[in-house]
Amino acid sequence: KKVIVVGSSHGGYEAVQQLLMDAPDTNIQWYEKGDFLSFLSCGMQLYLEGVVKDVNSVRYATPEGETAKGAHVFTEQEVTSVDSAAHSVHVKDLKSGEERDESYDKLILSPGAVPAALPVEGRDLDNIYAMRGRNWAIRLKAATVDPDLRNIVVIGAGYIGVEAAEVFAKAGKKVTLIDILPRMLQLYLDSEFTETLEDVVSKHGITPAMGYTVQSFEGKDGKVTKVHTDKGSFDADLVIETAGIKANTAWLKDVVDIDAHGLIKIDEHQATSAEDIYAVGDATQIKFAPTGGEARIALATNARRQGRVAARNALGESIAVTPVSGSSALSVFDYKFASTGMKEGTAEKYGVTMDSVFVEDTYRPPFVPSEAGNAPVRFKLSYDPSDGRVLGAQIMSTENATANINAISLAVQLHATVEDLAYADFFFQPGFDRPWNVINVAAQKAVAAMK
Ligand code: FAD
Repeated sequence: KKVIVVGSSHGGYEAVQQLLMDAPDTNIQWYEKGDFLSFLSCGMQLYLEGVVKDVNSVRYATPEGETAKGAHVFTEQEVTSVDSAAHSVHVKDLKSGEERDESYDKLILSPGAVPAALPVEGRDLDNIYAMRGRNWAIRLKAATVDPDLRNIVVIGAGYIGVEAAEVFAKAGKKVTLIDILPRMLQLYLDSEFTETLEDVVSKHGITPAMGYTVQSFEGKDGKVTKVHTDKGSFDADLVIETAGIKANTAWLKDVVDIDAHGLIKIDEHQATSAEDIYAVGDATQIKFAPTGGEARIALATNARRQGRVAARNALGESIAVTPVSGSSALSVFDYKFASTGMKEGTAEKYGVTMDSVFVEDTYRPPFVPSEAGNAPVRFKLSYDPSDGRVLGAQIMSTENATANINAISLAVQLHATVEDLAYADFFFQPGFDRPWNVINVAAQKAVAAMK
């Protein structure tokens, strides 16, 4: 059997590992159009801040290692088109310019996404960067130590923009963080959390400009110098655009069904509309556990799970992918937060009626001093007021309480209710938490509110 995998980031990587594990005799051809196999953008902040020293280490797989395991690895080779009827792909070798066709029995696509460029005047000026992939990582790293770049404007205050802003603030730059939405991280956290985070970033040299719409870029000698918004202008020696991504699917529009957002439509087995073609990762739709409908959530975790499921199904199994809740975590200077599922900032968009309870407590019992690792924890639990079904949660502290969100993600996935969580068995040890875990406390409050 011959399986072709396109794309070497999270989705493609997992598909190949599963194929190697379950059916090592498969003829696996793995294609990456870039010159570097398996760069992982999630490691970018750690590299840019100098925690990880070598950009080439931010990966799971090397061509040599994967070849030794039995895969046929092709870098700088782009799959430019698919003939689904003939079960073949057209490949262009980007080094030699040579082209050829390769047949497949099964095809797994993980072409991912690219940063979206704002459609505004001045967009073609120099010094407008993105934050995704190894090439941008190298350029951004150089920018952190370039003394000519003083004023940095980051556009998009989602988690990637916040990572970028923190990197450049720590590098001693003056940073402005712009978003069209009224709050930073609005899709991840409600205002009980983001108000604090906006104060925190301000104290660290980042000016949040929330609710501002970028209208154009101004430049001099071909380089950007200003960002103009509907509410004022900002000096900019460097702009980093982190305002969304665009699925890398234009080349597939005549091959598989694609939705209005450019995402490949897939069924629960990761199968596309074309026979023997599977698709995974940021280029695909994903099932959202809180609603049961489709969502657009670009996370490595999703791509990895989908990659495994696609490979197993390509080998003849019939596995359904687990719906996701968009669980994610991030640190913002001293604070660590995580969230999953529905928030007030997203409930309306999904047309969901939701109630929430908010709890602020100490991370460990009050008698534990802060020097020993005690600090306030904020937790918000959201649920369906008609039946108590858990819909999502958010947590934040300067201590690391983020793992609680994984329990809530599982609760959402298994359709648990606040009743189920009120007296759920969670451990207590004063070195770790309180006699009642914050999830128990919030769920008890929700049960009382529903009476
Ligand atoms: P991509 O990562 O987009 O990779 C697609 C690959 O396919 C690329 O290498 C591309 O060159 C190649 N390719 C595309 N088309 C072709 C073709 N026709 N032929 C050959 N090759 C092709 N997610 C998390 O869960 N946790 C995090 O902490 C996290 N942090 C992030 C931080 C940053 C800065 C960024 C940018 C993203 C982060 N993500 C994180 C998101 C995560 O990186 C993505 O969800 C994930 O990379 C998606 O993987 P993918 O396989 O779908 O595609």
